[in-house]
Amino acid sequence: MIQGKISRISGPVVIAGGMTGSKMYDVVKVGKYSLSGEIIRLERDMAVVQVYEDSTGLSIGEPVENTGQPLSVELGPGLISSIYDGVQRPLPVLAKASGSFISKGISVPGLDRSVQWQFVPSVKTGDEVSGGDIIGTVQEFHVVHRILVPPGISGKVAEIHEGKFTVADTVCSLEGGTTISMMQLWPVRKGRPYRRKMNPTSPLLTGQRIFDFLFPLTKGGTAMIPGGFGTGKTVSEQTLAKWADSQVVVYIGCGERGNEMTDVLTEFPELVDPRTGLPLMERTVLVANTSNMPVAAREASIYTGITMAEYYRDMGYDVALMADSTSRWGEALREVSGRLEEMPGEEGYPAYLATRLAAFYERAGRVECLGKGERVGSVTIVGAVSPPGGDFSEPITQNTLRIAGTFWALDTNLAYRRHFPSVNWIKSYSLYLDSIEPWYRENVASDWKALRDRTMYLLQKEVELQEIVQLVGPDALPESEKAILEVTRMIREDFLQQSAYSDVDSFCRLEKQYWMLSAILAYEEAVSDAMGRGVNLRQVSALPLKSGIARMKEVESAEQIKGFVDEIRNKIEALEVEE
Ligand code: ADP
Ligand code: MG
Repeated sequence: MIQGKISRISGPVVIAGGMTGSKMYDVVKVGKYSLSGEIIRLERDMAVVQVYEDSTGLSIGEPVENTGQPLSVELGPGLISSIYDGVQRPLPVLAKASGSFISKGISVPGLDRSVQWQFVPSVKTGDEVSGGDIIGTVQEFHVVHRILVPPGISGKVAEIHEGKFTVADTVCSLEGGTTISMMQLWPVRKGRPYRRKMNPTSPLLTGQRIFDFLFPLTKGGTAMIPGGFGTGKTVSEQTLAKWADSQVVVYIGCGERGNEMTDVLTEFPELVDPRTGLPLMERTVLVANTSNMPVAAREASIYTGITMAEYYRDMGYDVALMADSTSRWGEALREVSGRLEEMPGEEGYPAYLATRLAAFYERAGRVECLGKGERVGSVTIVGAVSPPGGDFSEPITQNTLRIAGTFWALDTNLAYRRHFPSVNWIKSYSLYLDSIEPWYRENVASDWKALRDRTMYLLQKEVELQEIVQLVGPDALPESEKAILEVTRMIREDFLQQSAYSDVDSFCRLEKQYWMLSAILAYEEAVSDAMGRGVNLRQVSALPLKSGIARMKEVESAEQIKGFVDEIRNKIEALEVEE
């Protein structure tokens, strides 16, 4: 075993001599408390280590022991509904072991060894199995946890048993002596293998109108949510974690305030999944590394999270990963890099910031899984970005922009006016529109794209018209353009605004979204026709239609809104030209 000594300490970074034979990313135990850390640079016999725990109190000369293992997570039943720190230590267990604050050097396994799970085999003695094959299942809350042969292992099943086992027990042995348990270790910095990447074909539905209808994300896609302080990044991430139509959610609270994570912890167990009627925690894994926790573990937290996401993907599930906020992750990277005295790049971030970000988002995707049977799984990443002062020209925003397929730009002005979600419809975009159009055509309506395009056209037109109004006042606009402004106000207030706190409206089904927008655009079309006949805008405005449109959010049944669309058309058509 390689054992060296601390020769220098700089915050979370420790330099140890006498480490010859170590490899990059080996996990080490540092000092008399055995704090865990990871080698991030090697020079001669010196290892530079980032320490995942509070390093105050370490002294020069204390021992550093190399475990010879890369930083890994335990994957198996028990992840769902768990709450971990950035290096997969279960927070409730830590708190119990050490009182209200986390004491040093406590090593607690990621998966509870005392729980017994009912394992049901799906292969039998004599079957040939290899990496990615399903050998059995375990019911983990309402997720059917598929036990997979770890990548790289293959052989003929010698023995396999049904029954209650812990994650450490052998459930299957192969001829030649290889044993398989329900748990596998995986190094977090290495993406888990799959057979091939596939194109995204269906949206990750969120129940949020501005996302689903205007700027959709796909299952296996990537999205970024940049926004200044208080614009709604955390609320958006949490809303997505609640309503996204994925089977498993991994939520990474990365460097944000502790009380926000507490909100998640108290709120999630009480929330019910609208599709299954089951508690949302029963499909969620939480990784929390809040601002008061060690910075190096924050750097690791996104890898811990994505590895867990890939593991459920490999079972053939759609997984959504939320990271709030990737900026705090970048800052952790910057801090460690600064301690290493590396040549700083833009704004003090290391030169490798862009490649690290790209490598993280690259782990999203829709894939054909390893193993028998045609399993398809996906990992979707939604990363919040918190640019200082809300200025999008800074490095994390700019580098993420090059990668993310969907850009949901939160806007300080909209948030200030309490227009939520404060997604700016002019700056935001989705690069997935073409690839998922067929899905919308088949599952929503043939004119989804036409409605969307018309809506975007009107919203862009509004910006132009508002400029004119600013210059010469509203009276200078012709009636037809005043009508457009009336319609765009409806689009903004009665369609795009959606409160995360409304009982009826925090989640909106796609069908309802469609009819809501159809109603507003039917109004627009009918008004335009009527005015063509010589009807006054004033006459249309006098009809009691606007209040009906404003009330659509609170209407539960899409059918009712559908009926309302006809009513709008008929009432406006019936208007007679005034003498
Ligand atoms: P950030 O994480 O960007 O700093 P938050 O997500 O904490 O901002 O949002 C700040 C506040 O904005 C919330 O406390 C809430 O009052 C409001 N807010 C944000 N999004 C919504 C929404 N979709 N519906 C209603 N209120 C929202
Ligand atoms: Mg926040």
